[in-house]
Order: sequence, then C-alpha cells, then structure tokens
Amino acid sequence: MARYTGPVCKLCRREGTKLFLKGTRCLTEKCAIERRAYAPGQHGQSTGRRRKASEYAKQLREKQKVKRIYGLSERQFRNLFDRVLKEPGITGEALLVALETRLDNIVYRMGFATSRRQARQLVRHRHVHVNGRVVDVPSYRIRAGDEVKLGDASRELVPVRLALEHFARGQPVTWIQVDTDKAVGRMVERPTRDTIPIAAQEQLIVELYSK
Ligand code: SF4
Repeated sequence: MARYTGPVCKLCRREGTKLFLKGTRCLTEKCAIERRAYAPGQHGQSTGRRRKASEYAKQLREKQKVKRIYGLSERQFRNLFDRVLKEPGITGEALLVALETRLDNIVYRMGFATSRRQARQLVRHRHVHVNGRVVDVPSYRIRAGDEVKLGDASRELVPVRLALEHFARGQPVTWIQVDTDKAVGRMVERPTRDTIPIAAQEQLIVELYSK
C-alpha cells in the first residue's frame, strides 16, 4: 500500500490518541482530536457504542498507531519487522530500536525538523550528511557513534532554524547529543526500550504478526 498523503489529524482521530504528526503545530494549532473526539468517517461517532474490542482489534490498532507515528507504509513496516525477527533479544524492543535508529527519525530527534515528515523531506532533498557523506535514504540505519549533520546552507533554512529553536527549549533523548548552533549531532549509544519515549505496547504488534 502506498504512503498515506491525506490529512494527518484523521490518523490521530482514528487511533483515538494524539500522535503529534504535525510537530510543533500540534502545540500551537487547535487539535482536531480535542474538537472531534471520535473516529473519522460516517460511522465514527457510533464507535463508542460498539461491543468490546477483540484481542485482534487491539493488536491491529497498536500496529497501526506505531506505523503511523513513524510514517511507514504497511510493506515497509512488515519488512522491518521481518528483519528484526532475525535479531537476538526481545523482538518488540528490537522493532522500536530499529524504528528509532532510522535516519529520518534521528533527524527529527536531533531537532533539525519538527516532525518526522519534515525530517524525511530533509533527507530526501539531500540536506543531511552522515559521517561526512550525503545520505538521502530515510530508512538508512544509524549506529552508535555515527555523526549526523546538516549542510552549511541547509541549517539556514527557515523551517530548520525554527525547529532548532524549539528543540533548544525541549528535552532531547538521552542517547543523542546535539550542537544546535552547528546543526550537528551524534547518536552516543544504542537506545533501549526505557529510553524510547513512545507510549506503545509493542508486544501486541509481535503477537499480531506472529499469527
Ligand atoms: Fe494529531 Fe492533534 Fe497534531 Fe492533528 S493537531 S496531528 S490531531 S496531535
């Protein structure tokens, strides 16, 4: 299935939770989920009157939620899951680590963009360097010790400057170090489940895909 390009607020309403898909605009604009706290579509308002969700429905919703947070298509998400299945350790945690260490997510975590969508665009448009080389593949996997940096002209872009200003006021994740003046950061260690600030029950995704 192709990547979703429609209104992102619909996705939050479908999952019944704020996914912050518009970045800082989610903090400044009126949030759609507060104005219409029901699923989108003709039957959205009757969702609450339906019978209790089945186990399958819970697993499916959790998978959809995580997939949408990171902006992956079903095929990309499934391929990633199949890859982490071969890795040692807990599959659910490995899945989240693999998602977090994608280049587009790292650019977002380093504060060069206010949303993962914007971060992906920066990568695709060749603004991002990894260890001194331009990398334009959003799924590129960053490893501990890698340096991620914006080009000299790129860090003067207005959206980037706004993103960095906002980032300087926030709290970065512990496994990343960033110099906002130079728009350069380093992943100092591999993230773990405890240091990934995503409210997800990844075990439900593993159960869904293991059927
Ligand atoms: Fe989701 Fe609210 Fe942000 Fe829209 S404004 S993307 S509903 S968190």
